[in-house]
Amino acid sequence: MADELVSLDRTLIATLIERVADHVMAHAEELTALDQAIGDGDHGINMKRGLTAVMADIESISAQPLPGALKAAGMQMVMKVGGASGPLYGTLFMGLAKELSDTPTRAEAVAGFGAAIEAVKARGKARAGDKTMLDVLIPVHAAAADGADAAALRRVAAEAAEATIGMQARRGRASFLGERSLGHMDPGARSCQLLVEAVCDVLEDAA
Ligand code: ADP
Ligand code: MG
Repeated sequence: MADELVSLDRTLIATLIERVADHVMAHAEELTALDQAIGDGDHGINMKRGLTAVMADIESISAQPLPGALKAAGMQMVMKVGGASGPLYGTLFMGLAKELSDTPTRAEAVAGFGAAIEAVKARGKARAGDKTMLDVLIPVHAAAADGADAAALRRVAAEAAEATIGMQARRGRASFLGERSLGHMDPGARSCQLLVEAVCDVLEDAA
C-alpha cells in the first residue's frame, strides 16, 4: 500500500471539491425526492446551496493546504445550509481538517476520517443504525481501514445507502415518522454515498 495517499497539490484539492460538488448537485432532485418521502423535502436544495457557496469560493479554498481547504469548505456548509445536514457535513469536513496533515498517508487519512465520524456522531447524538449519513460513513470507514480499494469502497457505500431502506429512523426529522420511515432510503446516506463515489473517482484517477 502506498505511503502517501496521493500528492494533494492545489489542483487536486480543487478537482476533489469540484467533482464532489458536481456529483452531488447532479443528484439534487433525487436527494430532494428522498427527503420528500421521510423529511421536509429540502436535502437536495440544502446540499446545492452549501456546495454552490463552496464553489463560489473555490479559488481561495483550493489555494490553501488540505486542512485549511477542508475547514473553509466545512464552514461554508455550516453557514449556508439551513438544515441539519449543513452542520453535520460541516463537522465532518472540519473534523477532517483538524486531523489531517497537508499530505496525509493512507493510514493517517483513515484515522482522520474515523475521528471526523466520531465528531459527527457527537454533534448529532447519533450512532450506527439510526438511519442517517453515518450509516454510510461508518461502513466506508471500516472498509477503508481494512484496506479496501476505490472500487470496493464505492460498492460498500452503495450497499450501505441501500441498507438504510430497511432501517427505522431514530435521529433527525425522519424519526418523527416512526415505523413509516421504513422502506425509504435516507437522503443523507445517499448524499454521503455520492460524496464517497466522487472522492474515490478523483483519488483513483490521481493514483
Ligand atoms: P433537515 O433534516 O434539517 O431538513 P436535510 O434534509 O438537509 O436537513 O438533511 C437530512 C439528513 O441529515 C438525514 O437524511 C440524515 O442523514 C441527516 N441527519 C439528520 N439528523 C441527523 C443526526 N442527528 N445525526 C446524523 N445525521 C443526521
Ligand atoms: Mg430536510
